[in-house]
Amino acid sequence: MKKTKDSPNVIFILIDALRPKNLGCYGYKRETSPNIDFLAKNGVLFENAFSTNNATEKVFVSITAGRHILLKDSRDFILNKEEIKSFLEARGKFLGEILKDNGYKTYCLKEIYGWQKKGFDFFYSAGESAESKGRGFWNSLQKNQKFRDFSRTIAHHFPKKISDEIKARYGRTNGKEATEDAIKIIKNSAEKKEKFFMLVYYNDTHIPYNPKEATGKFRAEEKSKNFFEEIKDRGYNPMLVDFWKGAFSRDSSIADIIARYDSAILYDDCLIGKIIDELKKTNLLKNTLLFIFSDHGESLYEHGIYFDHHGLYDSCMRIPLIISGKGFPKKKKIKSFVQHEDFVPTVLDMAGIPYDSLDFDGKSLLPVLRKKQKTRDSIFMEEGDKSKKRAIRTEKYKYIDASSEEDAFCKYCNKIHGGVIELYDLKKDPLEKENLAEKKRTILASLKKRMEERIKLYKKINEQRRIKNKISGIV
Ligand SMILES: [Zn+2]
Ligand SMILES: [Zn+2]
Repeated sequence: MKKTKDSPNVIFILIDALRPKNLGCYGYKRETSPNIDFLAKNGVLFENAFSTNNATEKVFVSITAGRHILLKDSRDFILNKEEIKSFLEARGKFLGEILKDNGYKTYCLKEIYGWQKKGFDFFYSAGESAESKGRGFWNSLQKNQKFRDFSRTIAHHFPKKISDEIKARYGRTNGKEATEDAIKIIKNSAEKKEKFFMLVYYNDTHIPYNPKEATGKFRAEEKSKNFFEEIKDRGYNPMLVDFWKGAFSRDSSIADIIARYDSAILYDDCLIGKIIDELKKTNLLKNTLLFIFSDHGESLYEHGIYFDHHGLYDSCMRIPLIISGKGFPKKKKIKSFVQHEDFVPTVLDMAGIPYDSLDFDGKSLLPVLRKKQKTRDSIFMEEGDKSKKRAIRTEKYKYIDASSEEDAFCKYCNKIHGGVIELYDLKKDPLEKENLAEKKRTILASLKKRMEERIKLYKKINEQRRIKNKISGIV
């Protein structure tokens, strides 16, 4: 085990489906985030951070392994066997594993699947794990996300008392629990003088945005059209409408639901405040590197995508990112493009742990901070669950395509959003409303080419990693 005497503790706080637009430090009208704003003032705020994929589990690999997982033929929100195999064969390694090898204690306060557990001393087991199966069928069923989602969908068919109980029980509200564990871990690490890496996960800002304690902190300023009236006769999937009826009260307007989302943000922000307080109390704040971010944004109404995170538009793909703590400047805003895969090399640089840059698709953010360099001149993004699309985004344009109408079709909403091929001028049309695919053929062709080159490059790098893996296996 190597010594990491001067290297910092590392805390990742991952807030599911949190869009930057609704945070005070990103200019929002409501005071949803006093504690996150405090960290932004005492650290670096990244104005152009983007997700690589809008499926939580796929992004999780980018966050914890510094890799972009290229879309395969199958459509799913978790990695399939082939993707996991290809990741491992290409020398895929998690940050937890690397930090553990370098003397850190490692904690993951998020439910994770079997293959993701490598490198964590402590973690929450996801439904399919052997541990939860061991606790009996009913327990295992209750931990299964699909069962929880289904229960919420049918909740409104029951009397109010039962339906409230179902919503409370399966409402994805584990922020409080994770915070209590985080505080214990900080206390314990301070007492034992142990260096630690901890990933804290909050999902209160994920639909149905319903932590009991938070509901009602904000209210819509004025009465507006009922949401269910608004979407009536617009061809939305009846199952989805049923799900919304389970999640929100029948008299909600879009503004009411946004107020509820904002209340959930404030709830998580208060939990973050408790973690900051504990770090101050134990005198660890100055020697801890704190990353606050989300896995993807959230479309609240944009593009006809209500209260979900799909579509490769900025409302869904833009994420908040604030890094503060040891070695990071204060009150700084960075415009350079940043993606999740940049986190691992940044942490390793900060911890003074050497690495082979071939192992990561991301780049360390330290040169960006010090020399105002750019990490990259474009962002590559994909989605492969509700629709199957790919996109490349430069400062000026976004190109999105699907290989067929079938792939472009959103099985969640029961329609095609935007078109099969889309092009937006982000300077003139930041809300991505006018599809210029027919009008600007030359720009379209050059962006398509650029995107295909990027995919080729990822494949080539993966091949190099596989060869290196084989050679080190022989030696
Ligand atoms: Zn998510
Ligand atoms: Zn959709």
